[in-house]
Amino acid sequence: MKPRLATVWLGGCSGCHMSFLDLDEHLLTLAEQVDIVFSPLMDVKHYPGGVDICLVEGAACNEDHVRMLHDIRSRTRVLVSFGDCAVTGNVPALRNQLGAANTEAVLQCAYIDHAQDRPTLPHMDGIVPRLLDRVVPVHELVPVEYFLPGCPPPAARIRLMLDHLLGAGPRPSGPI
Ligand code: SF4
Repeated sequence: MKPRLATVWLGGCSGCHMSFLDLDEHLLTLAEQVDIVFSPLMDVKHYPGGVDICLVEGAACNEDHVRMLHDIRSRTRVLVSFGDCAVTGNVPALRNQLGAANTEAVLQCAYIDHAQDRPTLPHMDGIVPRLLDRVVPVHELVPVEYFLPGCPPPAARIRLMLDHLLGAGPRPSGPI
């Protein structure tokens, strides 16, 4: 049976997934090596069980991200913190510098101060997740096996990591 690969998009700009697509023709080789079972690149709604490798893009910014990360961790053998937002918080964590009132400040700026029409804060229980008081990198919430830094990580670095995890390449030495 082929290894089961997933990719997840949390609080990030999707640039890391764009870099994944920059694997270009190697994607065809990858499609022969693995079964891709969950990804924003495909139409699957629920994270499945028995995932061998998961690349997680983005930081945890809201309550949904926290719930998803715990579900993903419990169903995944090897978790990769994929890109600087996942590794450090990076861009989404800039709001942390605003201190305790940062969630109110960013919502006010985005939905009230710069609204072109009908300024309203988004709210709908069970639909719009509440922002966390502080944006956190993935490893602050769940254990992570590998860190793949970069904003975004270049495709060559992603390939090196995947080749290693799939046993098709040498173990990367030092930060990759
Ligand atoms: Fe976007 Fe960079 Fe964050 Fe990746 S690490 S999601 S490219 S901002």
